[in-house]
Amino acid sequence: MDNKIDQTNKNITDLASADTDIKSMTIPQLERFLQNLGEKPYRASQLFAWMHQKQVRTYDEMTNLSAQLRQTLRQIAPLTVLEPVEVQISRQDGTRKYLFQLPDGNRIESVLMKYKHGNSVCISSQAGCRMACRFCASAIGGLVRNLKPSEMLEQIYRIGQDIGERISHVVVMGTGEPLDNYDNLLRFLELLTDAHGLKISQRSITVSTCGLVPKIRALADRKLQITLALSLHAPSQEKRLSLMPVAARYALSDVMDACDYYFAQTGRRMTFEYSLIRGVNDSDQDAKQLCALLAHKNCHVNLIPVNPVRECGYRQPDDNTTADFKNKLEKNKINVTIRRELGRDIDGACGQLRKKYLQ
Ligand code: SAH
Repeated sequence: MDNKIDQTNKNITDLASADTDIKSMTIPQLERFLQNLGEKPYRASQLFAWMHQKQVRTYDEMTNLSAQLRQTLRQIAPLTVLEPVEVQISRQDGTRKYLFQLPDGNRIESVLMKYKHGNSVCISSQAGCRMACRFCASAIGGLVRNLKPSEMLEQIYRIGQDIGERISHVVVMGTGEPLDNYDNLLRFLELLTDAHGLKISQRSITVSTCGLVPKIRALADRKLQITLALSLHAPSQEKRLSLMPVAARYALSDVMDACDYYFAQTGRRMTFEYSLIRGVNDSDQDAKQLCALLAHKNCHVNLIPVNPVRECGYRQPDDNTTADFKNKLEKNKINVTIRRELGRDIDGACGQLRKKYLQ
């Protein structure tokens, strides 16, 4: 008997020192974790459902687990929960921007967008970002750290609870480069789509990347049904390099090959994002080059008039130029939409709410 208690205590100490993030674990991992505590494996799905389906904030609410187990879990595996520090609600379109505090005090931003087809949450994948795109507010402070799978999920859970409605779509397009946090992104996707969790369908998830070629290829090999969006922003290697330092590591031709590979492996049509910047990438010549680059591809283009960020000094084209650019693409049979950012009355471009709080 004493031996058993000693053994349990030893296991508890081992587990506690392993920086246990229980909300980032799959059910099989939870089974092993609980077995080490002398619990039956079926407890794993109960615990999983409390965290990911009912999304409770404390162990106290997990009423079908024994008081002793709850006490142990409180000690060795504090639940990762995000706290909203500020919420801005757009009067124009109901968009909500959330500033969340992470357990270590860092802050991140997430956005809720309401569409006819459902509620979509745009999440951050990192605190800060190290890709340094010239037009992006999130690049300004550099990378602070990667987010854990639980911290990505929590942005969605807390927003869903706040509005009291189901979240049907998720876009990983907030602060950070998701493919620079690849392993955590994959685990996040696994948990988000788990039948015992929020159960979001893969087809309702979009991941946006600045173009990390080896990771695009690795993701393609997984053959998930998620949409991959590539931040293109320029039709030539030279111009792209002037906007996105990542182009020095991965040439445009290699990025486009990787996108073709993604389509070949998954059958999912690529999305290309193109932020229109006045006098930089919005000329007739740019449109022509873009048409040539995307000719005969099964893809969709999102044109986004750049969101002015004070530190960057870029401006949007006027509406005529934007419409002309779109028409040129359409004439070349390229699927294209102009995406105006929602919630323009609430702290402008992504990353700006968070930036307000950085020193
Ligand atoms: N790192 C990923 C995802 C985060 S950024 C990526 O690069 O795709 C999400 C999208 O917003 C990207 O297409 C990014 O290029 C774009 N973006 C960043 N700052 C912007 C701004 N000021 N105006 C318009 N789009 C911007």
